[in-house]
Amino acid sequence: LPAPNMWLNHPGLFSDYLRPRKRNSHKGSFGDVAVIGGAAGMAGAPILAARAAARCGAGRVFVGYAENPPAYDQAQPELMCRHAADLDFSSAVLVVGTGMGMANSALALLTRALDALSWLVLDADALNLLARQPQLQVQLAQRQHAVLMTPHPLEAARLLGLSTSEIQADRVTAARRLASRFNAVVVLKGAGSIIARADGAVVVNPTGNPALATAGSGDVLSGICGALLAQGWPQWEAALAAVWLHGRAADQLVAQGIGPIGLTAGELIPEVRLLLNQL
Ligand code: AMP
Ligand code: MG
Repeated sequence: LPAPNMWLNHPGLFSDYLRPRKRNSHKGSFGDVAVIGGAAGMAGAPILAARAAARCGAGRVFVGYAENPPAYDQAQPELMCRHAADLDFSSAVLVVGTGMGMANSALALLTRALDALSWLVLDADALNLLARQPQLQVQLAQRQHAVLMTPHPLEAARLLGLSTSEIQADRVTAARRLASRFNAVVVLKGAGSIIARADGAVVVNPTGNPALATAGSGDVLSGICGALLAQGWPQWEAALAAVWLHGRAADQLVAQGIGPIGLTAGELIPEVRLLLNQL
């Protein structure tokens, strides 16, 4: 296997996908993202992902709720909030799992997403459900369409049947095993996020700091991933760029005194947008 690339993840690598917007472009040029999640008590998680997707350039962003969709998001009325069952799963990049819960209705949504011919970002409860469902794991591994998985160490541990400390003891191997088992690009999150590909390629991300250790931080990352995929980035490059941007935004906010203590996940979003527009 190639040695982990400790260096990479620099915006210069992404220039192929950062071309200026064409003058005659329209919202359809930048794709749709549908965030699927939001069980009762966790309605904010998909909102964070969806706001991040909108501010990272997706043309349209839908939020599909597992239950009780709000009419709209007051702070971000651009988002289209629906019952997930009423969403078209085939025409958007699907970001699945944020605050989705583990109920049978959530399992049905994950199953539908895996059946769809769409690009997927699987996070949080999508990963927790998957860990309990061997037949869905087989289905995921056989999928022809791009999948990006963003486990934190506990989610990775559940997927591999290991303890969190076993994951943390060899993060590169854990990320590689997940990527090859599921034929996906995997972001193993945490200090020094590992981005791994099914062929064994691995990158260790240099940006980010403990300000990111806060609720909703991972939801924002999944939304950034979705937005880049919707704008045509391949999954590997999208994962690298999203992780880099997410960490860099936190680094810049900390440099301004907005953290590390008390940085909230939503505050990352405008900073990521600024970075994307500066690249
Ligand atoms: P989640 O646990 O799903 O909310 O995701 C947390 C996010 O914050 C991931 O992107 C992690 O990589 C990032 N993160 C958490 N703690 C740290 C840390 N100490 N240093 C750098 N990034 C972190
Ligand atoms: Mg999370």
